[in-house]
Amino acid sequence: MASNISKKVIVIGAGLGGLSAAISLALKGFPVHLFEKNDKVGGKLNVLKKDGFSFDLGPSILTLPHYFRRLWTRTGRRMEEDVTIETVTPHWRNFFEDGTVVDLHMDPVEMKRELTKLSDPGLEKRFFEYLEYSAEQYDLIEKGYFENGLDTKQDFVSFYKLKNLLKIDYWTTMHKRNKRRLKNPYLIDIMDYFIKYVGSSALNSPAFMNLMPTIQFRYDLWYVKGGMYNLAIGMERLAKGLGVEISLNAEVTEIERDENRVKGIRLADGSFHASDIIVSNMEVIPAYEKLLKEDDVFMDKLKPFEPACSGLVLHLGTNRPFPQLAHHNFFFAKDQEKHFRTVFDEGRIPEDPTLYVVAPSRTDTSVCPEGCDNIKILPHIPHLKKEGNPSREDYIALRNRILEKMERTALPGLRESIITEDMWTPEDIQRRYYSNGGSIYGVVSDRKKNFAMKCPKKSTKYTNLYFTGGSVNPGGGMPMVVLSGQNVADMIDEDLSGRDV
Ligand SMILES: Cc1cc2nc3c(=O)[nH]c(=O)nc-3n(C[C@H](O)[C@H](O)[C@H](O)COP(=O)(O)OP(=O)(O)OC[C@H]3O[C@@H](n4cnc5c(N)ncnc54)[C@H](O)[C@@H]3O)c2cc1C
Repeated sequence: MASNISKKVIVIGAGLGGLSAAISLALKGFPVHLFEKNDKVGGKLNVLKKDGFSFDLGPSILTLPHYFRRLWTRTGRRMEEDVTIETVTPHWRNFFEDGTVVDLHMDPVEMKRELTKLSDPGLEKRFFEYLEYSAEQYDLIEKGYFENGLDTKQDFVSFYKLKNLLKIDYWTTMHKRNKRRLKNPYLIDIMDYFIKYVGSSALNSPAFMNLMPTIQFRYDLWYVKGGMYNLAIGMERLAKGLGVEISLNAEVTEIERDENRVKGIRLADGSFHASDIIVSNMEVIPAYEKLLKEDDVFMDKLKPFEPACSGLVLHLGTNRPFPQLAHHNFFFAKDQEKHFRTVFDEGRIPEDPTLYVVAPSRTDTSVCPEGCDNIKILPHIPHLKKEGNPSREDYIALRNRILEKMERTALPGLRESIITEDMWTPEDIQRRYYSNGGSIYGVVSDRKKNFAMKCPKKSTKYTNLYFTGGSVNPGGGMPMVVLSGQNVADMIDEDLSGRDV
């Protein structure tokens, strides 16, 4: 560790991936300076205060809190000193247009009761066997891909060896496996939509992504008291406590290099900051394209790492509560396979998308005025392309279809109750965070395009440039990007001891 003190690290971007890398590197003794273009830390974990409502702009489901807790434990603090988290029950409420409503619970007794609503003999057995299968996949993937920070197919082969590789459910898709195992249309839709955690399609993702239900059914689903943004504030406090220097409103416009090494960064104000190591929380493709101005030959190699989907994010403040909603809800498309195909294969806005709907006031009354409701709606829609993107009118038409669907399915009177509203389009998401095509989860998980792998954390071109966040392994979602920050710090430390950097 002593030698790390002399190696200055710059982190570009204070999303959760950047904060986690900065904290983990500071813990290893590196002097770290973090530059963020926006006026606050957290990246997509963001908050909007409007007319007495507090909307979580980005994530609203916290899973795998042990990946966060580790950061605190390693500094000798307890996470609870900075952030209070609590479990949410039920995990999700699922609404179907035929009037079927079924909740997901971690408690098996409650879950069995919910399954009886689907009047399908044998479903209980199939469901609990499915959870065992999911847990097996989770344990396999966690061991190497998560905890060992595997980055390439070669890493996979040498870590897992043939015997374990064959146990990874890779050769079919999530959807096909769910059809075969669950044999119930409602449950297939529900379990397929766990793919929302990484903004991909259950028709294109490998079946091992069915590990995701274990994230909830074993480790529970969590809320951050006072609003999700408190997690970002807690991580900022942790970073500052370790001496990480944080510069806000500091946009990096260029990474300067010398042959195969990077030398430092230039900010929008023209200043140059030298460094021995750079970790970019700006996504891999935008960083190479905009900060390093790589040529088309190099950029073409990154094509398999297509962005995950984007979203249309609606925040509604209503003048009355809608008790039909649980904290987390899904309103399913009549034809979810069509939803996946339209968004991910055809790159178009779906007519009837599956909707994620969150009403945090079920758990936290501080997020809206008394007697009101705070409702966020998120349909997944395609990431932006170079041309041919939807118009503002297309987004507004989608907003109207969504509200009609919600009224039709379970929430009559929703539209007339709206007293404040805010809408985020893929363009807003791209502009605010510089994500690739307005992607909300980094790189898509796709069997054929990228084997569900994301970009490697170490640059293939510059020996002292690294990446963290949703565009690198193990991918998007808050716990995964926090893990990538920890993994990249370990990688840098190891590279330095092997004098690779
Ligand atoms: C609407 C929405 C809902 C979501 N729901 C969930 C959920 O419920 N649960 C969950 O776990 N995840 C959810 N996610 C995904 C989750 O938010 C992300 O996976 C995660 O927060 C991304 O973190 P990151 O570190 O990869 O990147 P980001 O959060 O994008 O951070 C990158 C940071 O880098 C900064 N930056 C970029 N370029 C530069 C530059 N040139 N100079 C300086 N700074 C720069 C950006 O401003 C940003 O702050 C959701 C995301 C969205 C948008």
